[in-house]
Amino acid sequence: MDTPALLNTLTSLSHEFGKTDYVFGGGGNTSAKNADTLWIKPSGTSLADMTPERFVAIDREKLSALYTFTPPTNTAERESVVKDMMMASRRPGSEARPSVETPLHDLIEAVFVIHTHPSLVNGLTCSQDAKATAARLFPEALWVPYIDPGFTLSIDVRDRLDAYKRQHGKQPTIILLQNHGIFIAGDTPEAVRSTYRQVMGTLKDEYQAAGIACALPDMPPPSPGSAKVEQLKQLMEVGAVAGGSLLTVAEGPLTPDHMVYAKAFPYSGDWSAAGVAAYRKQYGYAPRIINSPAGVYTVGKDAKAAGLAWDAVLDGALIRQLAAAFGGVRYLDDRARQFIENWEVESYREKQSQQSA
Ligand SMILES: [Zn+2]
Repeated sequence: MDTPALLNTLTSLSHEFGKTDYVFGGGGNTSAKNADTLWIKPSGTSLADMTPERFVAIDREKLSALYTFTPPTNTAERESVVKDMMMASRRPGSEARPSVETPLHDLIEAVFVIHTHPSLVNGLTCSQDAKATAARLFPEALWVPYIDPGFTLSIDVRDRLDAYKRQHGKQPTIILLQNHGIFIAGDTPEAVRSTYRQVMGTLKDEYQAAGIACALPDMPPPSPGSAKVEQLKQLMEVGAVAGGSLLTVAEGPLTPDHMVYAKAFPYSGDWSAAGVAAYRKQYGYAPRIINSPAGVYTVGKDAKAAGLAWDAVLDGALIRQLAAAFGGVRYLDDRARQFIENWEVESYREKQSQQSA
């Protein structure tokens, strides 16, 4: 495939796997490569908005310096040096910032790599029995226990890919990441599609056998603009409120993406100035999700931010529902949560995705 055909194909795959069955918000990323160049979705853009020109072209030779250098032990320093090295490996004409998962895409030997966070998959990866279930349903897949996102994850996965290849003679086409999502690799778009179909189909059958619906129950339509919403807006000092339906929300952090858009914990109970002040004192920030007996709301500085938080709530509620098939939901532990809360790169992405309204 020549470069224009490769980028057109990658754009089609990005749109196909940028639908809500696979990602929410700016999540997920896609790439294609030849021997010298990797093209990857930039940080702060969504898959659905990709065009052939928007992919960042990376000089793979330059990027490979990352695999031999000794990174600083301090997290912020390390991610900042890695970010600079990734920026420096862009080919002339590519100005956007490459995704933080760029090295991981580069290390996978297939032409196309499509990384997403489907609710159906995260019902498995965010469950108590995730590892055993992954081994049972997808014995050919590489299972990766939860690792902080960024450079650490790339290097850890590189070692696991090497070990897998030594054992199986080739790299896996499916990589499942605990409390995160899935990577699917293939040399043709058909191979990628067929592997995704297999994974989603297997999971659907499994949920069905467990008697668990693959969608949330019907909810009454939210009623924005009501006096209650106005009151919440004023109390929280925000520009917008979304949601309003009754549903069973996730009560803790599921994945890095959920935290980026909706923070780790919902505020629970009737809202009041004292309640919100107590929440702030406990967590150090204002809540984004208000789980009140009257309904679940999300808040944000504008309609886009509140809407993204609402998408995270719906996805989290569905993951919680699905995880019941595999021993119940598993939230990120405190250490993993705090890493995300302190992570500069993700806050950059949030800023970008809010600006690109
Ligand atoms: Zn991801």
